[in-house]
Amino acid sequence: MSTSALDALPPLRDVIADHGLRATKALGQNFLLDLNLTRKIARAAGPLDGVHVLEVGPGPGGLTRALLLEGASRVTAIEKDARCLEALSQIAAAADGRLNVVEGDALECDHRALMQAAGDAPCRIVANLPYNVATPLLTGWLAAEPWPAWFDRMVLMFQREVAERIVAKPGDAAYGRLAVLAGWRSHARIVFDVPPQAFTPPPKVVSSVVQLVPKPIEHPCRLKALETVTRAAFGQRRKMLRQSLKPIFPDPALVLREAGIDETARAETVSIEGFAALARALGT
Ligand code: SAM
Repeated sequence: MSTSALDALPPLRDVIADHGLRATKALGQNFLLDLNLTRKIARAAGPLDGVHVLEVGPGPGGLTRALLLEGASRVTAIEKDARCLEALSQIAAAADGRLNVVEGDALECDHRALMQAAGDAPCRIVANLPYNVATPLLTGWLAAEPWPAWFDRMVLMFQREVAERIVAKPGDAAYGRLAVLAGWRSHARIVFDVPPQAFTPPPKVVSSVVQLVPKPIEHPCRLKALETVTRAAFGQRRKMLRQSLKPIFPDPALVLREAGIDETARAETVSIEGFAALARALGT
């Protein structure tokens, strides 16, 4: 595949200056201008041959270019900021029809329909997410129905603190609702950290690239019931479960015993298997 037209695109710093793309905090804009770094992220999601990538928030297109250069068969990129569209159309012109830019709010798009409208290639989600909507986007993807999901992998940039809440295990300080959902539906791990100075403008905190690979459900239960149980349990995480689960079970001690969980345990020590058993007891 010829990549010369993509290689000939101007440096991202010039693209930002030429199109007046001053970063906006309200849109969570921290741009990656170093193509070595964006290619490292794209490689963490690879190999991309034959893969249709969903990117949320391409911005000036640093990661978009990397995904195309690393061989993605198609990239569908959803961007809310209309100021970026012209810069993105220059990339599209250099990409032999492989880049489809969608202007819109990723929180309001049907990602699965968007991707499947373009054929049945394997789908993957790769993004440097806007920090202000990163968690709702992730929980939406993890809540996909039917499961296994319409995507085979997600490689996503988060603030380090959010990344730790995604990959946490029982007993970790960061273990909570997000880790239970992520661990119930995927194998999640931090691939590498990215320092603030790699971004323009630099955020206040370190970021991490997280890989999530969907897995078959090992501990079946209804997603809504799991959410209800973890909301009650972690809503009062300092309390023993026999106390914190009172609003949702008439006799929490009995339910806990039947689920094989010590009634004096706190939410932060309960395994995903344990939460799934509680969700089954809720039955809704
Ligand atoms: N991918 C680019 C990069 O790595 O340099 C930009 C990443 S920047 C952290 C987040 C991008 O998401 C911005 O371009 C921003 O305009 C866009 N964005 C913010 N909220 C969005 C939303 N709700 N839907 C789609 N794009 C959004």
